[in-house]
Amino acid sequence: MNVVRLLTLIVFYLSLAMAQAQTQKTPSVISPKSVSVAQGQVARWAGNCLRCSLEKRAWAAVNGTCYYPVDMDMKPGHYTISRRTTGGKLETATLNVAAKECVQEDLKNFPKLEYVNVSTQNQARAVKEAALVNPLISFKTKERPAVFDLPVGKPAHNLPKGEGNFGACRTLNGQPRDRHTGQDYPVGMGKPVLSVGNGRVLLVANQFYSGNSVYIDHGNGLISEYFHLKSYSVKANQTITKGQSIGLVGETGRVTGPHLHVGVRWHGACINPGYLLIDPSDMPAVN
Ligand SMILES: [Zn+2]
Repeated sequence: MNVVRLLTLIVFYLSLAMAQAQTQKTPSVISPKSVSVAQGQVARWAGNCLRCSLEKRAWAAVNGTCYYPVDMDMKPGHYTISRRTTGGKLETATLNVAAKECVQEDLKNFPKLEYVNVSTQNQARAVKEAALVNPLISFKTKERPAVFDLPVGKPAHNLPKGEGNFGACRTLNGQPRDRHTGQDYPVGMGKPVLSVGNGRVLLVANQFYSGNSVYIDHGNGLISEYFHLKSYSVKANQTITKGQSIGLVGETGRVTGPHLHVGVRWHGACINPGYLLIDPSDMPAVN
């Protein structure tokens, strides 16, 4: 072995030892890792994940991958996300949330007059219904284990393209209304509505705004919502399998005509259901 080679080897092992000492001194090295998403989208961090957190909220990984759903109203900016691996390693990254401008929808000459000028009785009814639903769809510190898989199944056979109105900012005869929390699909009257994944029925109800509605809990804080149904064929607490028919497309509640409304809440975040229908490897990923 010549001197140069020996010196190179010594330098190599010295730098290795120094690097090791450095990591031992500072176990949580600031990570330059990041991921960029728009409001209503989902970010992922793949590989041996056990627990995931976004700021102060934490949840379990799904099949070793951390998912970070971003609410349509989450303030644009930079957030800290982290993951705990099965090996016990804690890593952090930055979640960059960009604003997604809402599509403007102005509904004019609305046919159902009870939704144009809402009576005090119906207002009270809607408040009561929201008080029942909101705790069911909001973030929970403890969630049931995931029973769904990604991508989720289609909510109807031969699913047409969505109306692109997720998160739409709406006015009705010029008066502002709440943002649209789901995606509308032009599926015809009486067509079967399918559960997007395995799960358990959380709630089945006739509600003022959403009409005949079914809410399904898929575990890991993922809840799917199906509104304006003509009828439903499931009961609360019933176990559901992916692709199972849960009801028929209709026009109940505040609608201008028959269609299928699908909404998704994940860890309390209202997200575009379209992002769960794509291959998860196409989601923005931490790197
Ligand atoms: Zn809708």
